[in-house]
Amino acid sequence: MEDKEIGRFAPSPSGRMHLGNVMCALLSWLDVKSMGGEWRLRIEDIDTQRCKREYAMRLMDDLTWLGLEWDGDVVWQSERGDIYKQCLDQLTGMGLTYHCNCSRNDLMAASAPHEADGRRVYPGTCRGKGLSEGAVRIRVPVSLEKICGDFIVQRRDGAWAYQLAVVVDDALMGITRVVRGRDLETSVPQQEFLYDMLGFGKPVFVHHPLLCNAEGLRLCKRDKSMDMGVLREMCRAEEIIGFLAFRTGLIPEEMPMAADDLLSVFSWDRITKEDIRIRQDFPPGAAGLSSGNPSS
Ligand SMILES: [Zn+2]
Repeated sequence: MEDKEIGRFAPSPSGRMHLGNVMCALLSWLDVKSMGGEWRLRIEDIDTQRCKREYAMRLMDDLTWLGLEWDGDVVWQSERGDIYKQCLDQLTGMGLTYHCNCSRNDLMAASAPHEADGRRVYPGTCRGKGLSEGAVRIRVPVSLEKICGDFIVQRRDGAWAYQLAVVVDDALMGITRVVRGRDLETSVPQQEFLYDMLGFGKPVFVHHPLLCNAEGLRLCKRDKSMDMGVLREMCRAEEIIGFLAFRTGLIPEEMPMAADDLLSVFSWDRITKEDIRIRQDFPPGAAGLSSGNPSS
């Protein structure tokens, strides 16, 4: 048991899954299943404004349809507020947190955008002010001041910040392998800091390339033609999996594949390092490879 690797897929149910989400799910499933491990599903629904139960149910149905079965019970972040609160109390007990009441304009004025990705690093304006309300920030060591700055762990409206919830959940779920898109690579320093402060062991982080639309932008909910609602009408699950396996570099030519059949060939060495740009080659139905083709 103690040697078993545990991975996870942690989508946010704010809309229908799209092909980029499917790629992330597939890679993380292959990663841990090829090692004989478990793949857990966590629904990241702490943002109650954007997340809907209905989307979460669709998402689970889409994963099952794709042949990506998860192990154990689904974990819902919206039900874990007490756990996040305990962890925040622990950090506060260590003297690591403080309140911040800077407005968005204050933040814009106080910092320059980060060179790499345009994020703004908080310069610690409210450190030592002893405020009693506002967003809760965590005090980072000097080594992280320029990288991420004191970041928010609980928002002004009481909502839990992504970084805190993710770290607490991954640690308490026993996750040993975190596989996710490289857009989240910049979260690693913050998350590792939280792991250390909360006394948790760290998982292995693997960041995969992103799926981009014809304009070279990361696929998102606006790319309607790539969402599972459309794709399920045009393709079989094996065509979607086979397309992703080919474009990520796992198989040398495009052919329908079941996720299970990729377990024996999966290796990160094969996965392309470049972002993958979708042009006119998907969905395969558009190229005459749909399930209606008698030769397939
Ligand atoms: Zn502030």
